[in-house]
Amino acid sequence: MRSVLERDGLGGLLLTHLPNIRYLTGFSGSAGMLLLLPDRTVLITDFRYSAQAPMEVGNSAEVEIDRTSVWDRLGRLLSIPAASGPGAAALGVEESYLTLRDAERLKEFGRFELIPTRDVVERLRAGKAPAEVEAIRAAATLAQEALAEVLPSIRPGQTELEVGSRLEAELRRRGSEWHPFPTIVASGPRAALPHAHTTARSIGAGEWLLLDFGAQLDGYCADLTRTVVVGAAADDRQRAVYEVVRAAQARAITHVSAGMTGREADALARDPITAAGFGDAFGHSLGHGLGLEVHEAPRLAPTAEGPLPLHAVVTVEPGIYLPGWGGVRLEDDVYLGPDGARCLSDNRTELLELL
Ligand code: ZN
Ligand code: ZN
Repeated sequence: MRSVLERDGLGGLLLTHLPNIRYLTGFSGSAGMLLLLPDRTVLITDFRYSAQAPMEVGNSAEVEIDRTSVWDRLGRLLSIPAASGPGAAALGVEESYLTLRDAERLKEFGRFELIPTRDVVERLRAGKAPAEVEAIRAAATLAQEALAEVLPSIRPGQTELEVGSRLEAELRRRGSEWHPFPTIVASGPRAALPHAHTTARSIGAGEWLLLDFGAQLDGYCADLTRTVVVGAAADDRQRAVYEVVRAAQARAITHVSAGMTGREADALARDPITAAGFGDAFGHSLGHGLGLEVHEAPRLAPTAEGPLPLHAVVTVEPGIYLPGWGGVRLEDDVYLGPDGARCLSDNRTELLELL
């Protein structure tokens, strides 16, 4: 990070996005900011974290606890004379996370110019260390074991919320720190909504049931989707659509690699779906990075021209959504290593009919 400060001519960088702060220091609290100066790194947080912050941060940063206002404390730190303050009078801030109100407060401290920065820490986070990859793999294993526990008990007549609550209970019981996002359980025609809410709708026999869920271990997220048929054998159209999604996902997982662009990766799944006549029914991008956040860099999307970084972990989640009929999505988590892609989740995508 210091080399970034130097490269960009910044006298300091103020980080306010908590996942970035956690990545650099280990601090997992819900409030705090990190001030990077050429010769100091200071985490400023409040009384609730006076015991936790020094334990988590170790010697990666000095910890300053302020009982009244972290902003007052920041103001005092920034008013220290140039030797240890932001000498170049250029303070980088995270443009995607600093509110207008906080930008105004910073300006009131005076002395320096605010420089908007974007994705400075996110770019570092995109390439994972072995321990990070392992945490995501463990979270994926936990998530698929929770699903395996719940699937045999799903019957027609149960509601989406009943199934969702059982799945979430299993995830927690097996050690997931929290749900990285609200679990999606979508049945029948509601499976055509890529980001459906889980509702009180009863699942009908022979309907699709789409489950999109995750787990979190050591802060790291896994994100999986499976689509099954409940209470009856799949009909011909269900089989045909499912097979298109399954083959597209398999093609993408086999061929995705670090160095190709996000657009090229997306096309691995999009081209066969389009060739099968369902191009318009796959309206979202193929995948996203996974890490301390469930959606992070890089993106696998038609508009993503940047190369996928080595050691990234990404989702591969093609889908086909047909309004009124339902939809199919399959999502697995993939590590982009030097020898190609390696699936961290089980990729068990054979069509399941829960009879
Ligand atoms: Zn998902
Ligand atoms: Zn996802």
